[in-house]
Amino acid sequence: MAKIKKTIKTIRVDADKCNGCRGCEIICSAYHAEPKYSSINPAKSRIQVLTHRLQNIWLPVFAGEYTPAECMGRDKYVIDGKEYEECAFCRAACPSRDLFKDPDSGLPLKCDMCEGNESGPLCVEWCLNDVLTYEEREEEVEEEVEMEEMEIGLGSLIDKYGLDKIASTVARMSQKD
Ligand code: SF4
Ligand code: SF4
Repeated sequence: MAKIKKTIKTIRVDADKCNGCRGCEIICSAYHAEPKYSSINPAKSRIQVLTHRLQNIWLPVFAGEYTPAECMGRDKYVIDGKEYEECAFCRAACPSRDLFKDPDSGLPLKCDMCEGNESGPLCVEWCLNDVLTYEEREEEVEEEVEMEEMEIGLGSLIDKYGLDKIASTVARMSQKD
């Protein structure tokens, strides 16, 4: 497969500075509401702050790719005396947990770096504690066909309900007016 140059967009997280204010969740859910800014629902945010108050843990994690299978990497980590639960650092929407799934539709949520917003990622802009830093870097990667958001959503529904059920539902719906 051919190699191409790609701009990798990411957000660096300095969790030690996070105070759990959840401003990032609020603005993310508001920006992605339909219509934009019409509602706030942190459960629909593409960044989630994993919280364990007794351990002084506030860990912002922004949503990555949808994955149809659970993985075996369920390690716990102890960093600076704080014990992080298994999957804490994982950015995937995966079948083994509800994180990064729309609470109404069950469809996977993925950070799109606030596509369409001229000033860039809003969670970065809204975080007053400099926890989040937007970064871009050039990388040489193998050319691949990127799946559209709708394709990813459809794939997750097929994983959940099976192809036959989805196909018969679509056929039934297409016969309605
Ligand atoms: S806005 Fe910043 S300080 Fe507040 S929860 Fe999000 S990352 Fe943490
Ligand atoms: S960059 Fe935008 S889409 Fe991604 S987590 Fe932050 S606010 Fe949400």
